[in-house]
Amino acid sequence: MAAEMQAALWRGAGDLKVERVPMPSPGPGEVRLKVKVCGICGSDLHEFREGPFLIPSRPHPLTGRSGGPLIPGHEFTAEVDTLGPGVVGWQPGDRVTVNCLLYCGQCVHCRQGHYNMCLKLGTVAFASDGAFAQYLVVPAYTLHGLPVEVSDDMGALVEPLAVAVRVVKRSRLRLGQSAVVVGAGPIGLLVLQVALAAGASRVLVVEPMAARREVASRLGASAVIDPTAEDAGKAVAALTDNQRADVAFDCVGSQASFDTALKCTGRRAVICVAGLALKPISVPFLRLWGHEKEITFSTGYEDEFPAAIALLADGRVKVQELISDRIALGEIVEKGYRPLMEEPDRHLKVLVYPE
Ligand SMILES: [Zn+2]
Ligand SMILES: [Zn+2]
Repeated sequence: MAAEMQAALWRGAGDLKVERVPMPSPGPGEVRLKVKVCGICGSDLHEFREGPFLIPSRPHPLTGRSGGPLIPGHEFTAEVDTLGPGVVGWQPGDRVTVNCLLYCGQCVHCRQGHYNMCLKLGTVAFASDGAFAQYLVVPAYTLHGLPVEVSDDMGALVEPLAVAVRVVKRSRLRLGQSAVVVGAGPIGLLVLQVALAAGASRVLVVEPMAARREVASRLGASAVIDPTAEDAGKAVAALTDNQRADVAFDCVGSQASFDTALKCTGRRAVICVAGLALKPISVPFLRLWGHEKEITFSTGYEDEFPAAIALLADGRVKVQELISDRIALGEIVEKGYRPLMEEPDRHLKVLVYPE
């Protein structure tokens, strides 16, 4: 009988169960990884609540996969277990994380290094099985080695940190500029730290949940603002000599968060939208035009992994405060997904251990 492993299987909205499944084997150019730890992401909750969203609904051109059953989990640390035919440069036991982009390498965007724009773009754990399992198989080109300074738990935050690094890059934030982060979830709290590392003069954080505002303060926010208690735009104006911010990061992706980002910024500001907006958002063109404001978007990452790993390794970005819970794979729904959806004020990043 073929070897089996434990894995969480998504079969559709509201359906995620831990089961025994056959252990995957690596094909040519692929590597089998033994998972050490994997974080639950907001996008995992989207798929659980109302998916498929990023999970392809037609067979994916690179993987052939669509819908369920699918193993989610894309923010992880693992150990190289078995190399498929033709893989060089890695050894069993190497500690790694994975850049989740699956790309063709041949289209015009791939040739320019814009892998997140690949015409056949897919994502590990959406168009192929992910890391809420004991093992997974990925193409060898996705691997990034982790230095000893980056612990297994820290390694699970490299992927969201790569997202945050790209968000700050896309905003074109310059040394000495002021910034506002709207939404202090895991991505917002990482964007806060990256913006400081990039030389922002001050970073203000707008967040309705008190517990998340406290974490933002401890991680270096110059001030935190509760948008349910005061007008965020006026609060930012008072803290910036009426200039308001040069850059705003919308780390939520809703009409309310976009409106907040808009009123927290001053003339010629850039608003970088990082959050996943599931509904259309209306934009007051006249206000943007009059103040020559720009809206830009950041989706995933290209190759921000080496930068993210360096920021973690030397301590410029701290992630211990973001980790609110550590649970076993068997508890993923009851102690992971459900608390994150139902009590977001008490949970931030939940790490799942397969054994
Ligand atoms: Zn994620
Ligand atoms: Zn491509």
